[in-house]
Amino acid sequence: VSLPIHEAVLGRAAEHGDAPALIDGTGDLTLTYAQVDTFHRRIAAGLAEAGVRKGDVLALHSPNTVLFPVAFYAATRAGASVTTVHPLATPEEFAKQLRDSSARWIVTVSPLLGAARRAADLAGGIEEILVCDQADRAEGHLSLQAMLATTTPEPFVDIDPDEDIAALPYSSGTTGVPKGVMLTHTSIATNLAQLEPFIPMGPGDRILAVLPFFHIYGLTALMNAPLRQGATVVVLPRFELDQFLAAIEKHRINGLYVAPPIVLALAKHPAVADYDLSSLEYIVSAAAPLDASLAEACSARLKLPPVRQAYGMTELSPGTHVVPLDAVNPPPGAVGKLLPSTEMRILSLDDPARDAEPGTEGEVAIRGPQVMKGYLGRPDATAAMIDTDGWVHTGDIGRVDGNGWLFVVDRVKELIKYKGFQVAPAELEALLLTHEGVADAAVIGVYDEDGNEVPKAYVVRQPHAADLSADDIIGFVAGHVAPYKKIRRVEFVDGVPRAASGKILRRELRERENT
Ligand code: ATP
Ligand code: MG
Repeated sequence: VSLPIHEAVLGRAAEHGDAPALIDGTGDLTLTYAQVDTFHRRIAAGLAEAGVRKGDVLALHSPNTVLFPVAFYAATRAGASVTTVHPLATPEEFAKQLRDSSARWIVTVSPLLGAARRAADLAGGIEEILVCDQADRAEGHLSLQAMLATTTPEPFVDIDPDEDIAALPYSSGTTGVPKGVMLTHTSIATNLAQLEPFIPMGPGDRILAVLPFFHIYGLTALMNAPLRQGATVVVLPRFELDQFLAAIEKHRINGLYVAPPIVLALAKHPAVADYDLSSLEYIVSAAAPLDASLAEACSARLKLPPVRQAYGMTELSPGTHVVPLDAVNPPPGAVGKLLPSTEMRILSLDDPARDAEPGTEGEVAIRGPQVMKGYLGRPDATAAMIDTDGWVHTGDIGRVDGNGWLFVVDRVKELIKYKGFQVAPAELEALLLTHEGVADAAVIGVYDEDGNEVPKAYVVRQPHAADLSADDIIGFVAGHVAPYKKIRRVEFVDGVPRAASGKILRRELRERENT
C-alpha cells in the first residue's frame, strides 16, 4: 500500500461524515470523521505557514487526547516525520530524543509546556513549540486550535511513500537505550492492510484507547486501524482502573486492545465486579508475554471468547502475528498466525545460520514489507538487526506448531542460564501470578555466592496476603516446575517497574541488583 499515511487512514473519512471518530472519555468532546478530515487539513496548512517543511522532524509530546491523531496526520500531511514522545518523559529524556532525532518542532499540550520548554532549551535546534489542546493561545505559543481558523489552502507536499519517513517512534528501551525507528508511509500503511482481515473493525465498533498513542502498539491498534475502518475511538489519557472500567460501561465499548497488566487487572481485581462490562465482545493483548491461564481467567470472568494475542515490534511497523478475531478455538498461549505477505523463520539458538528443528524453539526472524528502513543514525545497530538478506532478527524465542500458530517464550537475552539449563523468566512470572496471594511478579537472573545465575522473584503481595513468605513462594514454584527452574531468591516489593506499553522493565531490576 503505497500511500501517505494520512491518505491511507483518512482517505475514506469523508464517507463516514457525521459518525463519531473520537470521543473524549473524560469529558464530552466528540470529533466526527468530517471534522477530523477538515481539521487535519487546516492544521497542515497552519503548520506549513509556521514553517514546517518536508522532511522536518516534529516531536509530538502529548497524552492521549482526541486531538492527538489530528495533530499527527496534519504533521505528516505537511511533510513532517513525527517522533512521538512519552508525555511523562523528564526534560533530559525528552531532550535526548529531540537531539537524537534532530527534531525542529515540538507539539505539546498546555500542562506539559514547562517540560517541553526545558527540553527544547537543553536540546537546541527547535524552531518553535506549538500547543495542541483547546486553548486558543497558550502563553504566547502558537496553537493548533487557532490554526483551525486558517484560510490558507493546504500545502501541496510531494511525498514519496516508499522512501519518506512518516513516523519515527522510539523502541521501548526494554533491553537498552530506546532507538529511533524509521518507518516509511508505505510500511505503516501496508501493515494496516495486513492486519485488517485479522482484526476487522468498522462503523459501530467502539474501541477504548487506554494504551498510549505514542507507542507503536497504541498508534496502530487504537488510532490508525480504527480510524481507517470507520470505528469510534474513546480516548483516555492514562490507565486508571476505575476510570477505565467506567468508560467501558458508559461508552458501551466492544473491543479492547490492551497489554498483559490490564488482562491481569481484569482477571483479578475486585473493582471489576462493580461495573457493567457486558458490551465487551473481545479483548486483544500484545506487547509482552501473556500467560495462558491468566488469559483464561480473564475471559472466564468476563464471559468472553478467549483473549486474542498479537505480536510485533516497533521495527516491524509493528505487526507480524495476530490471533484472528474469528478463530474459533485458538490454542492457549498462541500469539497468532503470520500475517499475509510476511515470511518467518525460526533460527537455531546454537547456530543462527540454520533453522531450528520444526516445532522446536529458536529465534524468530521476520521478512516483509513492514520491516523498518533502519534505526535513525545507527547503521551498526541496523546491521545487527536486519541481515543482508533482509531478515529481522527479533531477539525473541518462539516455536511454531503444526498448524502455524506461533508461541513466544521470552527474549533471548533475558533467559536465565542455570547450570547449563535455560529458564524463561516469563514462565515463572506467569506461574507466580496463579498464586492467590500474588498481585504481581517479575523474575530476573541474579548471581549466587558460587557465581551461578539463579532465578530471583520480585513479588507484590495481594492486600489480603500480608503474611505470604519467601518460603511460601519458593515452595509453591518448586511444586510446579522442574528443579532447575526453582525460584531461589525472593524479594517483596510494592510494585513491578513497567514501561508505558506494559512491559516489565527487568533491566531496572538488574540495575537495582547491581548497586
Ligand atoms: P527495546 O527494543 O528498546 O529494548 P522493546 O523491544 O520492548 O524495547 P518494542 O518494540 O515496544 O520495544 O517491543 C517489542 C517486543 O515486545 C518484542 O520484541 C517482544 O519481546 C515483545 N512482545 C510483543 N508482543 C508480544 C507478545 N504477544 N508476547 C510476547 N512478547 C511480545
Ligand atoms: Mg526491541
